[in-house]
Amino acid sequence: MSEEGMRRVTAIQNGTAIDHVPSGSSLKILGMLGLLDSRSTPISLVMNVPSKKLERKDVMKVEDRELTQEELDRLAIIAPNASVSIIRDYRVVEKRTVELGTELRNIARCSFSNCITTNPREPLPHRILVHSKDPLELRCAYCGRIQSVDDIVNNLI
Ligand SMILES: [Zn+2]
Repeated sequence: MSEEGMRRVTAIQNGTAIDHVPSGSSLKILGMLGLLDSRSTPISLVMNVPSKKLERKDVMKVEDRELTQEELDRLAIIAPNASVSIIRDYRVVEKRTVELGTELRNIARCSFSNCITTNPREPLPHRILVHSKDPLELRCAYCGRIQSVDDIVNNLI
């Protein structure tokens, strides 16, 4: 967490801080983490903070939850350069990085309604392949259709 980010977001006692989130994508990230509808997890969010690394960035803090590496890896399609700090008793005890793998497995359904994965008689794992990281290109492993980040967010399992 940069000084800048720290100053703007209230310190939390325990939880996870996510810095260097591309400006304006915090809500998508909350969606990816299944926290958008959460009524019980306190979340602080600062959007459009000036940043050295990115032009503008968002900073988010999720209280009383230490996000797992698996949860963090979900963020990689939206915030590949995010830096993540696990906070206990107001101190950073661990830094984690997000990593975009080659496949998103059982994270989201294919957006194509005729995809074989929508057939209940074919209980296949949901596999979205990362064909390219920059620019990001995601395709269903079965039908090959391109999946946008919004598709992923809207079809989360
Ligand atoms: Zn498909």
